[in-house]
Amino acid sequence: MKKLIIIKYGELSTKKDNINYFLSCLKDNIRNSIGDNCYIKFDRGRMYIFPNNENEYDVIISKLKNIFGIHEINIGYKLDSNKLDIIEENLKVLIKDRSFNTFKVETKRSYKNYNMTSMEVSKYLGGIVLKSLKNVSVDVQNPEFLINVEIRSDSAYIYFDKIAGIGGYPVGSLGKGMLMLSGGIDSPVSGYLALKRGVRIEGVYFESPPHTSDAAKNKVCELARILTNYSGYIKLHIVNFTNIQEDIYKNIPHEYLITIMRRMMYRITDRLAKKNNCKVIINGESIGQVASQTLTSMVSINSVTNMPVIRPVACLDKLEIIDLARKINTYETSILPFEDCCTIFVPEHPVINPTIEKCEEYEKLINVDELLNEAVKNTEVIKINKENLEFNDIL
Ligand code: ATP
Ligand code: MG
Repeated sequence: MKKLIIIKYGELSTKKDNINYFLSCLKDNIRNSIGDNCYIKFDRGRMYIFPNNENEYDVIISKLKNIFGIHEINIGYKLDSNKLDIIEENLKVLIKDRSFNTFKVETKRSYKNYNMTSMEVSKYLGGIVLKSLKNVSVDVQNPEFLINVEIRSDSAYIYFDKIAGIGGYPVGSLGKGMLMLSGGIDSPVSGYLALKRGVRIEGVYFESPPHTSDAAKNKVCELARILTNYSGYIKLHIVNFTNIQEDIYKNIPHEYLITIMRRMMYRITDRLAKKNNCKVIINGESIGQVASQTLTSMVSINSVTNMPVIRPVACLDKLEIIDLARKINTYETSILPFEDCCTIFVPEHPVINPTIEKCEEYEKLINVDELLNEAVKNTEVIKINKENLEFNDIL
């Protein structure tokens, strides 16, 4: 009998033709997260991890809990035979120190030529448990202790404890997106939700020194670092936005400040995204949250890019976003009180219904191309890993 970790895939198992591609992405992500100290094997139904050391199970499981594409994690035992007497013998050993009042045996057979049905195996093994332990009874509806038995063509698995995975698709399996990452609450949550759907993210942060501080930048790096708990690593592009903001402030009617500023952010994000093979832009906009996030504003702002813009929190209430931010551990960092470049040049009365025509007319008052080229050229790139709390790993 060999102890191991069994992984179930959830939604991934609905993939037919592409399943092997998704599973090899998942395997790579698991390998990158947990390292070399184990043997990993998979088939279309399950992934099996055999850690080299008994004392590594807890560490490995805590890492697996943050890997997208995993629906359920079980600690189990592999038997090199599917013979009923072998299963019985090992099951007795495994349950002898467990304490529970009610139980159920659930059997699955992927090996359909087995000489008993799943029901017959469950019934038989249930009888064995009743005989082996005192004061236990069967409860098929709501058992305290679930005994899972899986029968394969030349082996069998027994497992008990179910640990929930975080679901979704393996990060990177669906390509890459450029996340507009501010220091607020919404954009890290959006990044997390995009990762969950298998999209690897790069981040872009707009800073305006000296109007924004290093502390504000550090906060964004820290948010990116927290996201690496789910993604392994993140490349973060830091764009100096000072000249653009100052030019806009000097030359453009103030009710359009935010609209034009955001159009410039989108244009830069579009260029960085294309340069880095990202297929989409991702951001933390939420419908109606502020003037620049009304549907009409979105039309005017979105029109500068032909890339799809994914807004994972567009339809969530702020309180729902905050709940998620707490869950993924970004909330406490997001609420640290550092200024964002958007909040510094806020006009008293931002336009709620901007038009594309007006935006284009006002943009003639600044040198759009020159400003964009300069900002993209001077972008700083940082690679953030789980380990380096300091973001000193300049690419
Ligand atoms: P909050 O949680 O306070 O709403 P926010 O980051 O969502 O913070 P918004 O003003 O609502 O701030 O901005 C909408 C979206 O635009 C952000 O979620 C983010 O994706 C993007 N964004 C705003 N400011 C920046 C910035 N300085 N750098 C990169 N992206 C930004
Ligand atoms: Mg917001």
